[in-house]
Amino acid sequence: MTLVLPIAAGAALGAWAYGTYEPNSPLFGRAVGRGSRAGRVAYLSFDDGPNPSATEPILETLAATGVPAAFFMVGEHVRRFPALARQVAALGHEVGNHTLRHKKLHFQGPGRIREELDGAHELIAAATGRAPKSFRAPHGYRNPFVAPVTRRLGYTVFGWTFGVWDSDPRVPAEQIRERVRRKLRPGAIILLHDGDGYDPAGDRRRTAAALPGIIADGRDAGYTFQPLAALLAR
Ligand SMILES: [Zn+2]
Repeated sequence: MTLVLPIAAGAALGAWAYGTYEPNSPLFGRAVGRGSRAGRVAYLSFDDGPNPSATEPILETLAATGVPAAFFMVGEHVRRFPALARQVAALGHEVGNHTLRHKKLHFQGPGRIREELDGAHELIAAATGRAPKSFRAPHGYRNPFVAPVTRRLGYTVFGWTFGVWDSDPRVPAEQIRERVRRKLRPGAIILLHDGDGYDPAGDRRRTAAALPGIIADGRDAGYTFQPLAALLAR
């Protein structure tokens, strides 16, 4: 028995870490991390906006190419830039909840988690005229207190298939584009950033600049970009 206990404890800790840090882990509630692998379909998603440097140019590219996307918004940024949030929704893109202050939720208690999700929910609904139906946790970090709140709000929880570290200021637009091209695979939910989780004025122009090339490369490889809303639980 002396060996079994530490091993069991280690396994439990390992499972806990998996549930916490793996954005698509089902341990703390189901999360959609990838769409259909049949056929060449991909989904664009943008986190941490709305943002004055990047959201509008991204919307322009999406409109010019006829591509849908999902935007997981930070409540406090919606409070600052409600017109941008409204514009995203008015153009038919999915608007999801990404917490009020971009809090990492894994060490938060139920009260703070309720406050983060309800706060962003209300701000998004007020700005866009539409209650959000989807949620993505900042950094993908969750714990057992998140699922009861997302369930009550009727959310589908999303993870992602791959990111390309576009929020790192050292990564130029060309490299963002190239990384997406190399990682693209059927059903991929692509994680990009039109904002900065903590700095409402964060510069995401590199992501905006990379987007036309990302869409062109995907289409050249036979992909169609579909709305993430198609993966909402019904
Ligand atoms: Zn984020």
